[in-house]
Amino acid sequence: MKYIGLADCNNFFVSCERVFRPDLWDKPVVVLSSNDGAIVARSQEVKELGVPMGVPYFKVRDEFEKAGVTIFSSNFDLYSDISKRVMDTLREELGVIYQYSVDESFFKMELKSVAEAKVELTRLKTLVQKNIGIPLSFGLAPTMTLAKYASELEKRGSGVSVLTLEGWENQKNSVSMSEIWGVGGATTKKMREHNLITVADFLSADNSRVEKIFGVNGTRLRSELSGIPAKMPEGDEVKQKSIMSTRSFSKTTTSLAVLEEALAYHTARASEELRSSHTKAGKISILLGTNRYSEWVLQGGTAESMLPYPTNDTIVLLREVERLAHTIYTKDVPYKKVGVVLSQITADDHMQLDLFSSQKEDDNKLMSVIDTVNKSLGRDSITIGRARYKESWSHNHNFRSQRYTTSWNDIPRVNLK
Ligand SMILES: [Mg+2]
Repeated sequence: MKYIGLADCNNFFVSCERVFRPDLWDKPVVVLSSNDGAIVARSQEVKELGVPMGVPYFKVRDEFEKAGVTIFSSNFDLYSDISKRVMDTLREELGVIYQYSVDESFFKMELKSVAEAKVELTRLKTLVQKNIGIPLSFGLAPTMTLAKYASELEKRGSGVSVLTLEGWENQKNSVSMSEIWGVGGATTKKMREHNLITVADFLSADNSRVEKIFGVNGTRLRSELSGIPAKMPEGDEVKQKSIMSTRSFSKTTTSLAVLEEALAYHTARASEELRSSHTKAGKISILLGTNRYSEWVLQGGTAESMLPYPTNDTIVLLREVERLAHTIYTKDVPYKKVGVVLSQITADDHMQLDLFSSQKEDDNKLMSVIDTVNKSLGRDSITIGRARYKESWSHNHNFRSQRYTTSWNDIPRVNLK
């Protein structure tokens, strides 16, 4: 029988930092959001201190000092690069994978026996740990939702969990709906109001009642939880639309500043479109094109990356665009065309964002103010120029680690004595 697997990197940003700081392997570590505002990744030791995700850093500064917590600013150059290495390894071993976020990928696997599957997934886990240094958790189950649940089960144990339908039958009475992927705070509250506390409650509720209260998403979730796939990893990819904004220049340019300005324009357009359709993008690609009929035809190219979390925030997208532009820009090459493509598009109420809600709210307010003003006074009455964006991103990275894997200057040195 075909099962669906999820490979999930444990405490991903923290684990990336630990690759180059093995002294921190069993010590409390956190990573802060952009601008060092809030906590976006916690090591197990910090989770055990009871510090929740998304807490403003200043609120826990004293507590962290006492507990000897090591603090890092976000270093997305490092995280993107390590993510790519992990995903490349998984792709090599598993064939097709569906990358769901910066640290998660779904895949399909034929389940011959539970024991065999465990051996294979343990092999993969060991391989990634040894070659890249990132600890993974695997969940294998009949549906994506159950695979996600399974991946949490052995996070602190073997890291490999295979959930069969029989195994799930025995558990679902004691699993609360709030533990299920996609069931956020508001949905949990609504479920409580209808006395749907456990998965068993939800599955035994009348189908038409579920549809009436929770709509088509409710019936899909029921199907997923009873072991019948309502979504497939590759299905989503096929369905997924993307948003593209691109244009050729009338004259070529060799200036990185001009290219970045143009990319910023397209990023603003594309992210505006995301916000107006209440969606977020998980992946961004940029294009720097040269004249097709010239000696520069082989120059230029595209670069893409998975975002740390799905977003429609122009500032977050601009930051990534700039990073990508630097990776493909070549001095003295005349460029003719730039473009931005946003993909892996999901609805704005995407469950992953629950984690970031306190921090994201203000950003979204800023974006919606800009959208409102531009709608009434005309497009580009307010723009987030590079100046504004530089300012918001180049300060307050007080605890940033080196870009160990993407910058020659930051490569670790080994002292041989
Ligand atoms: Mg993870």
